[in-house]
Amino acid sequence: MICSLAITGASRGQTPQRTVAITIDDLPAASANNMTGAEIFAMTSKLLTTLRDQKVPAIGFVNEDKLYKLGDVDDRIKALNLWLDDGFELGNHTFAHTSLNRVPLPVWEEEVIRGETVTKYLLAQHKMNMRFLRYPYLDAGLDLQTRREAEAFLTSRGYHVAPVTMDAWDWMYGGIYEDARKQGDTALQQKLLESYLSYTTTIFDYFEKQSKNLFGYEPKQVLLLHATWLEADHIGDLLDLLRKRGYQFISLADAISDPAYSSPDNYVGEGTGSIDHWAITRGQPLMGEPAFPQWVIDKAKELHHSTGTPSY
Ligand SMILES: [Zn+2]
Repeated sequence: MICSLAITGASRGQTPQRTVAITIDDLPAASANNMTGAEIFAMTSKLLTTLRDQKVPAIGFVNEDKLYKLGDVDDRIKALNLWLDDGFELGNHTFAHTSLNRVPLPVWEEEVIRGETVTKYLLAQHKMNMRFLRYPYLDAGLDLQTRREAEAFLTSRGYHVAPVTMDAWDWMYGGIYEDARKQGDTALQQKLLESYLSYTTTIFDYFEKQSKNLFGYEPKQVLLLHATWLEADHIGDLLDLLRKRGYQFISLADAISDPAYSSPDNYVGEGTGSIDHWAITRGQPLMGEPAFPQWVIDKAKELHHSTGTPSY
């Protein structure tokens, strides 16, 4: 056994040992307003079946305002509950996906509290606590005082902030993919999938290199995804891609135990990932993040799924 492991390790040659936590935002579904509860349940079930079969830990971040659709509440809550029944974790993404950069702090804090009601109830039934909050749009404050006060508030309510180091804008692909899926346009679905996986590769190349430049090693990474049919249908392809890069899958709690996440971070401004935060705090802003494919942006605008502004 030891011998065969040693041989496996050697045959991998230069493939680094990497780890990543899978985090999925905008539950119960990014497009919940255009879906029935039954469809949300079907999407959730497909997504979680792949993750569970492959023993990949994941956490989903909830916007509870998406639960309240008259006559459809039960199915939406059942979809959320599936996460916990299948052994995954849930966190808070504020009630109505409210940016801390766009409203006064007390208003935002109220959005955090309103976002806890159903999720905390479901967690308690599974003997779990709410441990993580993900900032909508990754907006963590426009000035340092607001940022620190928000963090103190979150700490007082038992939260850790859920960071992001890898983001390939899957939400942008997701809206167009869901439209193509509705139209039965399998050619466009395939084209989007290929572009998505290819862009993800360039994003990983880029941030692996940048994080190594910053820390001298690649910290445990945190990947941002969204609850869409794109991920439900194809997260298996994404997991394959990551495995080929040497990634093993870990929980968010494990990822943020990496010392990198305790390094100085005084970033304020428009929402962005932690690797940007750390680089800017050191006075070494990152240049040259891979350009997002323009045809995908154009397609999204054309289909009115996006105004061109990020919706994560
Ligand atoms: Zn979001």
